[in-house]
Amino acid sequence: MSQDKKRILILGGGFAGIECARKLESYFMNDLDVDITLVSEDNFFLFTPMLPQVASGMIETRHIIIPIRTLFIKTAFYESKIKNIDPYGKIVTLEGTNEKRGISLHYDFLVLALGSQTNFFGIEKMEERAYSMKTLNDAVVLRNRVIDMLEQAENENDPILKKSLLTFVIVGAGFAGIETAGELMDLLLDARKYYPHIHREDIRVIILEALSFILPGFNESLASFALKKLKHRGIEVLLNTKLASFSGSEVIIEEIVDPVRNALNQQKIGSIQTKTLIWTAGVTPVDTIKNSVFKTSRGGVIVNEFLEVPDFPGVFAIGDCSYVINTQTQKPYPPTAQNAEAEAEIAAYNLRSLIKKGQKKKFKYSSKGQMAILGKRTGIATIFGINLYGFAAWWIWRSIYLSKIPRLDKRIRILLDWTVDLFFDRDIARLKVLRHEAPKEYKELDEVDDVW
Ligand SMILES: Cc1cc2nc3c(=O)[nH]c(=O)nc-3n(C[C@H](O)[C@H](O)[C@H](O)COP(=O)(O)OP(=O)(O)OC[C@H]3O[C@@H](n4cnc5c(N)ncnc54)[C@H](O)[C@@H]3O)c2cc1C
Repeated sequence: MSQDKKRILILGGGFAGIECARKLESYFMNDLDVDITLVSEDNFFLFTPMLPQVASGMIETRHIIIPIRTLFIKTAFYESKIKNIDPYGKIVTLEGTNEKRGISLHYDFLVLALGSQTNFFGIEKMEERAYSMKTLNDAVVLRNRVIDMLEQAENENDPILKKSLLTFVIVGAGFAGIETAGELMDLLLDARKYYPHIHREDIRVIILEALSFILPGFNESLASFALKKLKHRGIEVLLNTKLASFSGSEVIIEEIVDPVRNALNQQKIGSIQTKTLIWTAGVTPVDTIKNSVFKTSRGGVIVNEFLEVPDFPGVFAIGDCSYVINTQTQKPYPPTAQNAEAEAEIAAYNLRSLIKKGQKKKFKYSSKGQMAILGKRTGIATIFGINLYGFAAWWIWRSIYLSKIPRLDKRIRILLDWTVDLFFDRDIARLKVLRHEAPKEYKELDEVDDVW
């Protein structure tokens, strides 16, 4: 290898990692002195905004994932879980299993883009008992769970049990919770026609939100429109309500009391009988980051205004796994795909500046807008300061997100799925998909293959 050869290693194949690799390819496509490598656990990029539509069966599972290899020409790809990051020795070790040897990759420049995982806030047994909405497997598992509940409820004679089978509780009224509730209701109402013993009034979709409003970060009038629409569609939204526990068949809820309005501090406690709890109440950076030597705040790697880790020049952190302060608001940027992509562009630019000895750019970003869909062809959007409601917002959501899918063939497949959904009922075939992947038996390897 030439002495001057620079090795850029990107960890994570989500919005941040993919965008960063794409930009770096465009800068260094013909530069033989720069190698780019990307490592990710899955060999595909997952387009999360459409995950709730996979859970509702509107979009076919594989249509929202794009194989990473098909997106790049120059970038080398490793499908693997990262075991260890050593920024002192500039080595990243990939996990070895009984079937494959561990590998260690040496780098000159590193981009951390490992994203986030569901945050259960340490609530006892929640991870085991609740369904989540973060990965492709989560969406597939949830769809099959919902259909399973319909199958069981159809032939259930005990009215109390039947009701609990048909009650779905979603925790969290952010993007993921609201969109999942809307899509879930669509699926339940569409599928109901094949279940003659299930009536509309038997079905309950309930959202629990600890705050006094939904969709934090959204403009107030859009959020209150969304709340009205959800209620109109029969979705119950319990605000100022937090989940205390879930036994697997009963949710205990507690009202959050405002001490100013309720001086006596009288708190209402209630319970909901349900077999299915869907947890969308927050994310936290992945364990690989938490277990690393990098300094973190709220779990995210602390970076400077160039998105570089101060203690380790040449190491960048972007997307959900980073802690980037917005200098205008003095608050960290929220974990969104939009921010992840914007950070990726600046990290790639600054990497080029380091390699080519140019000027680095500071990260400054204002959101272009926000959008959410609420099911049944309605949504909310704010784009460049303009608020849109109902069908127009739903249509814009579809057009913008469709255009963001990286490959034409996938865009066409999604468009066909949406078109078919206009004319035909949802497929109610249930697959027996495993809820959690069986733990892999990782081989502790003293010796690893040194690749670079
Ligand atoms: C249901 C849902 C709907 C959403 N809707 C929107 C929306 O409408 N608009 C919006 O802006 N944002 C939305 N988001 C948020 C958005 O998905 C995230 O902010 C975005 O994915 C962050 O990008 P990232 O690259 O940082 O992380 P990710 O996209 O999560 O990518 C991280 C990557 O790292 C890989 N990885 C993690 N750990 C390891 C490891 N140890 N070894 C190897 N690889 C690893 C993962 O497999 C993944 O490929 C939504 C999220 C969800 C869950």
